[in-house]
Amino acid sequence: MKQRKRVLVKFSGEALAGEEGYGIDTQILKFIADEIKKLVDADIEVAIVVGGGNIIRGVTAAKDGIIKRTSGDYMGMLATVINGVAIQEALESIGLEARLQSAIDMHEIGESFIVRRARRHLEKGRVVVFAGGTGNPYFTTDTAATLRASEIDADMLIKATKVDGIYDKDPMKFPEAKKLPEISYDRALSEHIRVMDDTAIALAKENKLPIVVCNMFEPDNLKRIIEGDTSLCSIVH
Ligand code: UDP
Repeated sequence: MKQRKRVLVKFSGEALAGEEGYGIDTQILKFIADEIKKLVDADIEVAIVVGGGNIIRGVTAAKDGIIKRTSGDYMGMLATVINGVAIQEALESIGLEARLQSAIDMHEIGESFIVRRARRHLEKGRVVVFAGGTGNPYFTTDTAATLRASEIDADMLIKATKVDGIYDKDPMKFPEAKKLPEISYDRALSEHIRVMDDTAIALAKENKLPIVVCNMFEPDNLKRIIEGDTSLCSIVH
């Protein structure tokens, strides 16, 4: 039985790359681990889903038709496992207990995804890192995050990203874009908000899972959000 608050934090692969734009910046890993530790120290159960965009994305890999989309997607899922191993290391390097579970079996590298086992780890205060996306092509790690958050009965999904919330237009292109502190699932779906794909939002709606979009580089933000201060983010609910 879940006794404590439980949260799933999704980190994009791209965010791990830092200035380089590619690969894994260990200082960013360290920052993420320190932010996660603040949650564990506050007695919050934490699961993580990580993307793979810093290494490869299926659609991009398949762009010129040499690599099939499905194979490109499997390559993308493997990329999330590479990132997952890195995050597990970073968590352990600061004394947290972590378990990597992959949607694609890789026994030498991590556990297989077994939801009951994941829940047990969380109850014991271990951070569970879910890698391998959903294990299926044509999905994103945002959808994987929504799926896993629903499966483990998380109180919320936090999408920790490079932007600080959801805007009515692309803030990179339109300086007058307004940030939306909250938005309904239906509006997010009808406007196809860029920060999260429709499949993920539809699944969150069905499972009444709130999605919080926040800037991952804002220190203490994750903890503040879970404690109810959502001033620096946007919520889809
Ligand atoms: N992917 C997939 N199925 C999933 C999750 C991910 O096929 O359930 C593939 C897909 O090709 C995707 C890549 O893995 O482009 C990396 O994930 P994503 O692009 O979501 O990573 P992020 O944008 O968060 O870094």
